[in-house]
Amino acid sequence: MSSLRIGIAFFYHESHTFSPSMTNLNDFINEGFHKGDEIIEAYAGTKTEVGGFIDILRDKDAEIIPLVCAAAIPSGQVTKDAYETIKEEMISALRQSEKLDGLLIALHGAMVVEHLSDPETEMLKKIRSVIGYDIPIATTLDMHANLSSEMISYTPLHFGFKTYPHVDMYEQGCKAAETLWSGIITSEKYVASFIKLPIMLPSINMRTAEGPMHDLVELAKQKEEDSDIIGATVFGGFPYSDIPEAGVSILVTGTDPTKTERTSKELAEKVWEFKDRFIVHLPSIDDAVKEALSYNGDKPIVLADISDNPLSGGTGDTTGLLKKMLEADIKNVLFGAFYDEESLSRCMYSGEGATVQLELGGKESPEFGEPLSVQADIIRLTEGKFRNKGPMNTGVLVQTNGAAHIRVKGMDILLTGRALSANDPELFRHIGIEPTEKNVLGMKVKNHFRSSFEDLVGKILYVDAPGLASNDLSVFNYKHIPVPIWPLNRTVPYQFELTTK
Ligand SMILES: [Zn+2]
Repeated sequence: MSSLRIGIAFFYHESHTFSPSMTNLNDFINEGFHKGDEIIEAYAGTKTEVGGFIDILRDKDAEIIPLVCAAAIPSGQVTKDAYETIKEEMISALRQSEKLDGLLIALHGAMVVEHLSDPETEMLKKIRSVIGYDIPIATTLDMHANLSSEMISYTPLHFGFKTYPHVDMYEQGCKAAETLWSGIITSEKYVASFIKLPIMLPSINMRTAEGPMHDLVELAKQKEEDSDIIGATVFGGFPYSDIPEAGVSILVTGTDPTKTERTSKELAEKVWEFKDRFIVHLPSIDDAVKEALSYNGDKPIVLADISDNPLSGGTGDTTGLLKKMLEADIKNVLFGAFYDEESLSRCMYSGEGATVQLELGGKESPEFGEPLSVQADIIRLTEGKFRNKGPMNTGVLVQTNGAAHIRVKGMDILLTGRALSANDPELFRHIGIEPTEKNVLGMKVKNHFRSSFEDLVGKILYVDAPGLASNDLSVFNYKHIPVPIWPLNRTVPYQFELTTK
């Protein structure tokens, strides 16, 4: 048999609909927008979904047809222009390609476009209109996807992450590719069952090392031991998207509809039972700073500014926590990454060794803290390029659009030219800062950073600072989410619709 032709693609965004920063085409170009062979160059050898697709397909001696890959860091809604441009690239690449035998596509599942609340299904629908329904498609999806039942109308093969921090992107990419491949070879017919629950959860306690999501993932893995169940995923959802598709869902793929239905119902019941365990209360900025002042562990304590975590759609430049940490005069502190293009260009203009007056941060979302007037010594400047060495997105080239190590009142601060979470120590090390030498790390992160930092630090405190990604969902003025929904409405009854296709 001549080798099978398998298309690979990637279209990824997590959209925070309350964010003032729209996500435009440039944001995709800055983070990663690749066509054709550039895709192999960018992702072969990386521990990403596309890295997994490539490894499995190479192993099978398939002909890999790289189509389009586009990803941007979580922020506000994607502009119509950016979405339509990328979609058109995808569609024209499919049209130009000779007939495919299968298609692998890494999606996020929580993208929102100006005019579309569920663009991933719209994209799959469009792809089907071009390639028809005979060619199998398999997707990978983020654990924080906000899914609708329409997703399974276009293919039953969806594989969600089972880890948070998401260190199984590669594994799920491999699984999607393996399943697609064996489906083509054996002509096996798959089905999917889907349940949407009236629950919308903050992600803070969704990590899979312990807690309720750990228990749910373990149950899902047990279910996958049945050879008729190919994939079982609990999707925690992304609560900062004010859309009708918001909330928790369960998607089970397999070969026996009775079993996929039964499994999805069992998982749904457990989510309902565990839902209270996802709600946690966090220390205030003052309490967290007090704890940092008295901390004397061997390894640093982290004050995690979770409400401004860029990977949850935070603007990366809020000043609430930074201001209090500067005022408290805590010793041996590193704060970062802190996004401020204007201050960064000022540093670049002045050069290493100079002292400058800066209006730090508070520019993207000033409602969460005014800019801080500070005098800063410029220690070192770089163009902000490094490769991840930690377990998440390993090997991926990161571009911060410039970086400055500045010192303000004895505090080391890393300024970057775009918002990004400090999920890999290379972010600091590439500019000569060793985070493990610090007593206190102020970081704009939530859970992903644990994959690299958990072993390097002594204690992690999640701080209830103001910001777009607040843990308290009652602060958001939702207009489009399904109602009633738990926990905003605590009396919502246990009910759901089950769809199997
Ligand atoms: Zn996620």
